[in-house]
Amino acid sequence: MEEDITTELCVLQSHLDGILDRVYHNSLTLKRLQAFEMRLLGLNSLAEMIEFILGETKDLFDLDIVSLCLLDSKDDISTCLANDNYQFQTRAGLLLAKEEALFKQRFDFAHRPLLGIYHAENYGKFFDLQSPSPSSVILAPLIRRGKYLGSLNLGSYRPDRFICNMATDFIEHLASVLSVCLENILTFETMRRTSLVDPLTGVNNRRFLEQRIEEELDRSQRSRDPLSCLFLDIDFFKRINDGHGHQAGDHVLASVAGAIKKQLRSNDVLSRYGGEEFVALLSQSDQVRAGEIAERIRMAISALSIQFNQRDIPVTLSIGTATFLPMAGKIQVAEIAGQLIQTADAALYQAKHNGRNRVESGGSIDVAWIDKDC
Ligand code: GH3
Ligand code: MG
Ligand code: MG
Repeated sequence: MEEDITTELCVLQSHLDGILDRVYHNSLTLKRLQAFEMRLLGLNSLAEMIEFILGETKDLFDLDIVSLCLLDSKDDISTCLANDNYQFQTRAGLLLAKEEALFKQRFDFAHRPLLGIYHAENYGKFFDLQSPSPSSVILAPLIRRGKYLGSLNLGSYRPDRFICNMATDFIEHLASVLSVCLENILTFETMRRTSLVDPLTGVNNRRFLEQRIEEELDRSQRSRDPLSCLFLDIDFFKRINDGHGHQAGDHVLASVAGAIKKQLRSNDVLSRYGGEEFVALLSQSDQVRAGEIAERIRMAISALSIQFNQRDIPVTLSIGTATFLPMAGKIQVAEIAGQLIQTADAALYQAKHNGRNRVESGGSIDVAWIDKDC
């Protein structure tokens, strides 16, 4: 009798120890989750967030595989990441999905995490597996206001790690916080991008140019590479509006902007300066190179076949160029920026004066603007 009671006590004690162990383990996980979420809330860009999730979730939950699948139906995410020079195409663990159906089909209306044994036919699209497949997985949908943003997908090589009736509170909590952060960052990134993009032509606007030109001058000064500026203006654009209508004029503007962009490198800056005027900044380009690129653009535009309401609209461009050559000592970037654009604009005026559909060089900008004593 006494022995029975002792045995029962031992069993109870061991149950209690097990429960205490789990409580201790859960409170530790909770603390780590809170610290993780605090850091997540402090991130400022989408690229930072992706790096943080893919880099740190493994440790947090002691996992073998983590992937983040984001819905990018309008290419907003890829555009934003490309603008930040983030190599999203080659980032292991990051997947951009075009169709919301991928999430709708998998998560259905439950909006709850899915977990269990990994089957490639069910879960393969949520992992970009270079390493061995996981044995068990949990996929947490990222949802805001009833819309899918993507999913956070965790995998383990242990088949018993994620089993069907396991509690999912921690991962659900993390997915909710991540969804809010993601939505905030995407809204912010969209606002940042649209405030710097001209809606008609899709190229950057003048505000963007004003920010970038100083950065480009600093970069040019540091790397000792010349920086050139092109001022481009559509010839007799008013006649196009008058002869074909404003809608046709808008169509021409967008077509010309697209054709100019095609002739530039991806790291060159193109902005709509105003009306039918554009400014391009060409890094690592001296006066000769700037002239060659300007001539290439001029020819591409004059060869362009633009049609509106079945009518051909011939278009030509006049272009002025100017070049900044890095100097010894510190420079006053704001003044040089103004001088560079002003010089290219004066050369453009000359191109107009000399008959249009041509390129004129304003040469290198006046060194008197460079204050060596600063
Ligand atoms: P030039 O060869 O000397 O540059 O002559 P131009 O006719 O191109 O220049 P002008 O400055 O006389 O006319 C520019 C026209 O561009 C006037 C303006 O109505 C038109 N414009 C400015 N912004 C827009 C726009 O967003 N859409 C359309 N359709 N027209 C615009
Ligand atoms: Mg014009
Ligand atoms: Mg003009």
